[in-house]
Amino acid sequence: MSEDMKCSYKRKLYTLLAGIIFLLGVSIILEKSNFNFITLGKELGIAGDSTQTYTYVREYSTPTQYVYDDTMYEDETMVYQSAQEGSKSITVMSVYEDGEQIEEKVLDVEIIDEAKPEIIYIGTKERPKYIIPVEDYILTSNFGARWGTNHNGVDLAVETGTPVMASAKGVVTQAGWNGGYGICIYVEHEDGEETRYAHLSECLVEVGQEVNQEDVIGYSGNTGRSTGPHLHFEIRIAGQPVNPFDYVKN
Ligand SMILES: [Zn+2]
Repeated sequence: MSEDMKCSYKRKLYTLLAGIIFLLGVSIILEKSNFNFITLGKELGIAGDSTQTYTYVREYSTPTQYVYDDTMYEDETMVYQSAQEGSKSITVMSVYEDGEQIEEKVLDVEIIDEAKPEIIYIGTKERPKYIIPVEDYILTSNFGARWGTNHNGVDLAVETGTPVMASAKGVVTQAGWNGGYGICIYVEHEDGEETRYAHLSECLVEVGQEVNQEDVIGYSGNTGRSTGPHLHFEIRIAGQPVNPFDYVKN
């Protein structure tokens, strides 16, 4: 046997020995860890070759909540609270047999940040065709015969500067001074009916402008033929004034 051959033989032997020691080490470590996992698995009633536990953090959200509100009109919605994602930490045990996952069990769930749902209010109140255009008024003159003539609307006493709302959706056909009405606004509605708002102190709309019910279109006043601060309000159907209180529901 030459020196060279001896050397090569020894090297092979050492390599083999090192390999055996490495494999032994690995199997001892595996057996030890397996032992722990299997014990834990048995306690939880899980059978299998090996188990792994791990923890991860996941964002989560909660479903939108809808609140029905009879103080809001049926076509109105309001976002009361916007959604906010939360996070939770989840601890899972996975069971493997022949390297394949056969079972997974959630051991623990911990909320880190509480998720907040989106909360939406939905109106349920039926929207009336017309509303009274001012709030907190005193009725000082009703519709109908007055001083030998016809009072074409209702007089609603309010302080000068009180916001005047459109009684219904429509298009502005008059905005400005008009004789005894003083500063006034007319709104024509889809079906050709009309509302009039008179003795204003200020107009906030222009002719041709579209307005929605409840939009503030001007401020009340005491302009034109008026004996004190009030809003004169009319509803006209087919051009004829009618008693607004027969058509509004507040
Ligand atoms: Zn009047």
